[in-house]
Amino acid sequence: MRFDLITIFPEFFAGPLDHGIVRRAREGGLAEVRVQDLRVFTKDRHRTVDDRPFGGGEGMVLKPEPLFEAVEALLGRNLSSADQQVLIEPNTAIVLMSAAGKLFRQETARRYSRLQRIILICGRYEGVDERVAEHLATEEISIGDFVLSGGELPAMLLIDAVTRLIPGALGNEASSVNESFAGDSGSTSDKLDREIAEFRGDPKAFASSPWMKKFGESLALDHGLLDYPHYTRPAEYRGWAVPEVLLGGNHEEIRLWRREMAMQKTLRNRPDLLNKALLGKVDKSLRKL
Ligand code: SAH
Repeated sequence: MRFDLITIFPEFFAGPLDHGIVRRAREGGLAEVRVQDLRVFTKDRHRTVDDRPFGGGEGMVLKPEPLFEAVEALLGRNLSSADQQVLIEPNTAIVLMSAAGKLFRQETARRYSRLQRIILICGRYEGVDERVAEHLATEEISIGDFVLSGGELPAMLLIDAVTRLIPGALGNEASSVNESFAGDSGSTSDKLDREIAEFRGDPKAFASSPWMKKFGESLALDHGLLDYPHYTRPAEYRGWAVPEVLLGGNHEEIRLWRREMAMQKTLRNRPDLLNKALLGKVDKSLRKL
């Protein structure tokens, strides 16, 4: 996998790429990250990358020319207008980091991890000339419902989430299967929806239901439950003991307990993950009335 970052702050990435899984993936040749200084593609003495917005308003906007030329230099060819209607290169994504983009999710990371190349455009100031979103980027991606001052941190976050999904990047291949959001985009059966409806608003009852014991595992994958809680030594810290069941060594009990805890945590912190499918159906039946 090759990542190309286009930024006006190339030094920004000096630290974050040099630790943990991302560093190991780079050293092992699984991922290559190159940083491209946008100012290289300016032509004036002041190396200007931004300009005032047409129509007035606050702040500055990143100009289109240096961005188009930077991407063309990276691809090694000029883009004709026909290119811009279709996917520019197979197995390549040109991603514009943007608060107004589509939300980046685990599902997105998984899809990107199968590509060969990702070019990441980092915005600054008030943002980027819209022609970049319309005619250069293949996708416009937001990392969450908040506004940052630049696209560098979002791009770094994307690189991290994608790199750890490249086969071989995690020490233990299985460890990305059971984590939070592993089932992102998973489907839901009617029966599961009905059961969830019955227990909505009562997480405790739900987690301890016999049904939960029966379907918990497949549910975890179908719904993308959050991760279960993890504990390590000491077994007691400041009077807080590690849950008894984890010390017992009964693997079946531990498996059930973890499932229940994941369910409770999801209901508590992210009920939207469980209610999504259900709410869609409630919505539809209301519209019919
Ligand atoms: N005026 C814009 C925000 C510009 S912030 C708006 O209201 O949508 C400057 C740059 O930071 C953006 O061009 C983008 O590259 C980056 N950025 C800010 N928030 C982001 C987010 N949530 N996700 C991805 N990129 C973001």
